[in-house]
Amino acid sequence: MNDQINPHIAPNMVFKNLIGGKEVPASDGMLLDVVSPVDGTLFAKIAAGTAQDVDAAVKAARSAFEGPWGKLTATERGRLLMKLATIVEAHADELATLESRDNGKPLRQSRADAVALARYFEFYGSAADKLHGDVIPYLNTHFIGVERVPHGVTGHIVPWNYPMQIFGRSVGAALAAGNATVVKPAEDASLTILRVSQLASEAGFPDGALNIVTGLGRTAGAALAAHPGIDFLSFTGSPETGTAVQIAAAKNHVGVTLELGGKSAQVVFDDADLERALPTLVNAIIQNGGQTCSAGSRLLIQRGIFDDVVSAIAERFRALRAGHPEREPDLGPMINQAQQRRVLGYLERARNEGLRIVGEGVVAIDAPAEGFYVPPAFLAPVPHESILSQEEVFGPVLVATPFEDEADAIRLANGTPYGLAAGVWTRDAMRSTRVGRAMRVGQVFVNCYGAGGGIELPFGGFGRSGHGREKGFEGLVEFTTTKTLVIAHG
Ligand code: NAD
Repeated sequence: MNDQINPHIAPNMVFKNLIGGKEVPASDGMLLDVVSPVDGTLFAKIAAGTAQDVDAAVKAARSAFEGPWGKLTATERGRLLMKLATIVEAHADELATLESRDNGKPLRQSRADAVALARYFEFYGSAADKLHGDVIPYLNTHFIGVERVPHGVTGHIVPWNYPMQIFGRSVGAALAAGNATVVKPAEDASLTILRVSQLASEAGFPDGALNIVTGLGRTAGAALAAHPGIDFLSFTGSPETGTAVQIAAAKNHVGVTLELGGKSAQVVFDDADLERALPTLVNAIIQNGGQTCSAGSRLLIQRGIFDDVVSAIAERFRALRAGHPEREPDLGPMINQAQQRRVLGYLERARNEGLRIVGEGVVAIDAPAEGFYVPPAFLAPVPHESILSQEEVFGPVLVATPFEDEADAIRLANGTPYGLAAGVWTRDAMRSTRVGRAMRVGQVFVNCYGAGGGIELPFGGFGRSGHGREKGFEGLVEFTTTKTLVIAHG
C-alpha cells in the first residue's frame, strides 16, 4: 500500500497513548515499530507502554469514575456513545484504510469492522438507560432494592484480529454501564483503536473515561491484568495468555471475561441444501484469512456425501486468492511473519503425516513479495485425532472428516477442548434442533454461519474457548454487578 492513499498516516508517524484525555508518549519514551503485513514495511511507531503508564491510566480512570464520568446519568452516557457511533460511521473509510494497512484485512472487511464498531456504540448507547435492577419481595417491614452498578475501572486487553469490533463490544458495553476504562490494544494492530479514542475525545467523553496504553503484552498487558486498581477485566486472545490474565485477576479477587480460541465444527448432513451451504462453508474459514476465533475450521460431512462435498469445496478453494487488501482479494496476508510461519508449519507437519491437500488457493502474483501471505488450503480426509483437527491454526486451513450418523456427528463436533461456535446443515428441523442443543458451544448456527454472528447476540465459549459472555444485552450486564439495599420501614 503506498503512503499517499491515507492522508492520516504520514510515513513513520508516531502514535501516542491516551491517558486522562492527553496524548502522551511512554514514560521512558520507548517506541515499537509498526510493520504492515501487506508489504513488510515499517510505516509507523506506537508507544511501548510501561507499567508506569498503565498505573497513570488506571489512576486517570479512577478520577473519571469518581468525578465527571461517574456523575453522568445513564442517558447522558448513552447519548455520548450514540454521538461517537455517528462520528465513527462518518470516518468509516478512513478507519478502514488504516486498519487494512495495519492489519492486512481486505478493505471491505475493514470497512465492515468500522461499521460494526459504530453499531456497537449505537447498540450499547441506546441500551445504557434500559438496564435496571429489581425489587425483591421480602418482609412486609422492609423494602429491598437491587441496583445494577458498574464494576468501577475496567481493563480491556484486545487482540489484533478484529481490533475495532472487539473494542466496540467490550469497551462500548463497559462505558454504557458506567465504568471508566483502560484499554491495551494488541501490539500488531493498535492504530484504529488509537484513532477511535481521538474521535471519542471529539465526541465529548470526559477525560479519563477512556484511556489507551499501547505496548507489548508481557509488559503493558501484564501490568494491566495485575493492577490492583482494576475492578474487572475483559480479555480476548489466546488460551495461554487468558490463563495468565485470569491468574493475575484472581490475585486481586476481580472477575474476568475470557474470550479465547476455537476449533468450530460445521456439520453437514446428507439432506443439506448444498447450494446454500457451500459458499458459507468456505467463507467461514476464509474470512479474515482464518484469523477468526469462531472460524468454521472443521468440516464434518456425513459419509454418503463426503466425496461430493469434498470435491465441491476443493474446487472453490482452487479459485481463492490471497492478495493486497486494496485489490479486494478473498483474503489478505497473515498478521505477521510469525503467524505466516506458524500456518505454513502446520501444513508442513500435515504433509509429513501423510495428510492430503485436496484444494489449494494461490497467492496473487502481484501480492507484495515482502508481505505475509499464505495460500488457503483444504485437507481431506483428516482424522479427528490429528493435530489439524484438534488445534487452532488461526489461518486459512480447513479440514474435513466424515461421520456416520447423528450421534457420531455430535461426538466429533464436541470432541475438542474448545467450545465456541458450531454450524449445522440439514433440512430436517427436528434433527437440527436436537443436534444444535447437544453442541457444547456458545453459538449454534443452523443453515447459516456468522463468525461471531451479530452485535445483538451473546457470544462466548465453553472450556478452552473461555467463559463469560460479550455482545448483546448480556454483554452489557457482564460489565455490571449488583448492590442490594435493605430498608427497614416498619
Ligand atoms: P494473544 O493472547 O497473544 O494476545 C492478545 C492480547 O493479549 C494482546 O493485546 C497482547 O498484547 C496481550 N498479551 C499478551 N501477553 C500478555 C500477558 N502476559 N498479559 C496480559 N496481556 C498479554 O492473542 P493473539 O495472538 O493476539 O490473538 C489470537 C488468539 O485470540 C486466538 O487464539 C484467537 O482465537 C483468540 N481470539 C478470540 C476471540 C473471541 O472472541 N473468543 C476473538 C479474537 C481472537
